[in-house]
Amino acid sequence: MLATSLAYHLSRLDPDVTVALVDGRHIAGGATGRNGGLLWPCLNASFKKMLATKGVASSSEIMRFEEQASTAAADFIEQTPGMRELVEFAWLKEGGLYLFESEEEAYDELQELKAMTDRGWSTDLEVWGAAETNKRLGSVGYHGAIRYPKVGKVWAARWALGVALQAAKAAANGACGGVGLCGSRLAIFEGAKATAVDDVRPSAADYTAAGLNRPHGLKVHTSRGDVISARAVVHCTNAYSSALLPELRGLLIPVRNHVAATAPLHASQAMLDIAVYARRGYVYWSPRPDGRLVFGGFRDEVPGMEEGNDDDANLDQHIRSRLHEYLPAHFPSRFDGAACGPHFEMEWAGILGFTADRFPLVGALPAAPPSAGPSCSRAGQFICAGFSGHGMTRAFSSAEGLARQLLQLPGGRAPLPLAFQPHGRM
Ligand SMILES: Cc1cc2nc3c(=O)[nH]c(=O)nc-3n(C[C@H](O)[C@H](O)[C@H](O)COP(=O)(O)OP(=O)(O)OC[C@H]3O[C@@H](n4cnc5c(N)ncnc54)[C@H](O)[C@@H]3O)c2cc1C
Repeated sequence: MLATSLAYHLSRLDPDVTVALVDGRHIAGGATGRNGGLLWPCLNASFKKMLATKGVASSSEIMRFEEQASTAAADFIEQTPGMRELVEFAWLKEGGLYLFESEEEAYDELQELKAMTDRGWSTDLEVWGAAETNKRLGSVGYHGAIRYPKVGKVWAARWALGVALQAAKAAANGACGGVGLCGSRLAIFEGAKATAVDDVRPSAADYTAAGLNRPHGLKVHTSRGDVISARAVVHCTNAYSSALLPELRGLLIPVRNHVAATAPLHASQAMLDIAVYARRGYVYWSPRPDGRLVFGGFRDEVPGMEEGNDDDANLDQHIRSRLHEYLPAHFPSRFDGAACGPHFEMEWAGILGFTADRFPLVGALPAAPPSAGPSCSRAGQFICAGFSGHGMTRAFSSAEGLARQLLQLPGGRAPLPLAFQPHGRM
């Protein structure tokens, strides 16, 4: 999602820029093609911790960015002809719900909410007590909830593809009436894993009396044997970033998450049209337009919580069984007994890229320490990764912010928070 979004913004903001998008799999072959597609404006981190570690000014920047990012993405979808239908975008009728599974969780989250509202943020959120929550949901055992009024949903893989199409249009320079790929300034390499990014050292021939006669250059080598020359390289490699940037080991870690989709639910089982995070975000679900429920999480059920696991080809059997038990336990009137239990048609895993503070790394890379290997200069290299499970909401605006930085343009509608810069964080 980040790479296609960046390609789009670069192509539309600068009629002269040429972009090569290199993907080891294919567009939406990573987390983007495997997620629930919720555009949920929420911090995705502790507000109190953010205030304590980043300070008031920086925290305000992050909150402003968060408010604007999901709206900017939704506006882009609504205003681009055909995009809404392609990505099946809709606002969930009832918004989103953060459900508490214990009194302790309720206490902590209500304290967080108070800290936010005391500073004028998130004042539109609604608190539901335990009785109201269980009555409205038809559930048992929840200790209350916070309701978010505005949460959108998309078909995530299609959104990444839709943005790639818009990037191709923007890059077509008006050739083919602006809708084809001929004359394009965008090249997409799929099934091409980047294996190295080399600095191109100037040779004697590059110097004239006036000095160096060509700009700094980089070469990207791929597993297919391509060698791509570039002025700048942006690593939009999410949880896999440390393969090319070893200095990120331990700082940007892969975390595996499980997801399942039910068969379309019977009318008597239909859930509210509301997206749900429960148990501190370790359980989540959202209804789809065809009556299916996309349901996942549960990594807190296993030691190590799937941190460091980047295997999205296999599933953990214990997590699967806990996932299968959850809905009948909390919604017995809907899913009573094995015959009525939700039938899961598909199950899969996706890999999140987590940073320590849960904020992404977006900006120029600092030089790597010598321990990173022979080539530790990162001149001309940037990163846009580590969205810590919240990248669909932030991708579009983060990519715009970085595109503007690369093109030396003023910040756009949702300027990038300084706290996203890699400097000082790695
Ligand atoms: C189960 C699950 C549910 C989620 N739900 C939500 C949600 O509801 N809302 C939300 O906002 N976010 C959600 N997320 C997070 C969201 O999916 C990610 O933050 C977002 O997709 C990140 O996009 P990306 O482009 O950075 O990463 P990815 O989609 O993972 O893409 C990274 C790409 O980099 C490529 N790559 C890696 N290394 C190389 C290399 N060396 N050379 C070439 N290519 C390389 C990969 O092939 C891949 O295509 C969820 C994630 C998961 C896993």
